[in-house]
Amino acid sequence: MRYFYFFTAVLIVSAYCLTSCTTVPITGRSALHLVSSQQLAVMAATQFGELKKQSRISNNPKYTAMLKRVGDRIASVVVASSLHSKNVNWEFVVFEDPDQINAFAMPGGKVAVYTGLFDVVQTDADLAIVVGHEIAHVVAGHGAERFTQQLLAAGGAMALSYGTNDLDNSDQQMIMVAYGATTTLGALLPYSRLHETEADEIGLIFSARAGYDPRVAVDFWKRMDAANEGRPPEFLSTHPADATRQHQLTRVMPLALQEYYNSKL
Ligand SMILES: [Zn+2]
Repeated sequence: MRYFYFFTAVLIVSAYCLTSCTTVPITGRSALHLVSSQQLAVMAATQFGELKKQSRISNNPKYTAMLKRVGDRIASVVVASSLHSKNVNWEFVVFEDPDQINAFAMPGGKVAVYTGLFDVVQTDADLAIVVGHEIAHVVAGHGAERFTQQLLAAGGAMALSYGTNDLDNSDQQMIMVAYGATTTLGALLPYSRLHETEADEIGLIFSARAGYDPRVAVDFWKRMDAANEGRPPEFLSTHPADATRQHQLTRVMPLALQEYYNSKL
């Protein structure tokens, strides 16, 4: 009986995959999304609203203006590239915390950086590397994919452990969905290493397309690593080692430079 339920779960997932497999822009990777971007955006907007109430929002006019300028410009590239989803409403916020050399993104287009990041960010092009990376997480649907992964993990566990009890299918699914929601909402970081590497690549293309020189990325990531020595920030913690990242930058740079030279911005 246990196996029957397990295979039923596998079949349901396979059926979903026929309708829910999507392609990540730029990299062309296939990804499975078992949650709609709209559902996720609504949940993330609520959580981001709470975070803004509970945290100190920076009133540093220089930082705030810089993030708005760079964020709006890269977001405009996403909109112009037809990669923009109607469920995305871009919002850029600087949180006050000088100890955090960090940034994060949430589904629905919520992007935040901490004031500590400005110890390493010197120019708009530097900030564009980070903001491009965060925007790439949103556009690539990494939140939905992560949610799906955890939902499947939870669903597999539920199917096995409840395989012989009296719960009917709809109850099981409800529990699975509720479990997935509570464990993944707010757990959108750290992303897997794959997501981090992909966000680096897509982000570099976006920032170059927005007219920011991608070559600053090489030095910028070195400074980030140096600044975070001994205390890697969350959004770097799953990043590849410096040598691996530099290798990837070398691979992506010709395309990024082409985008930069063609940029009208
Ligand atoms: Zn990231």
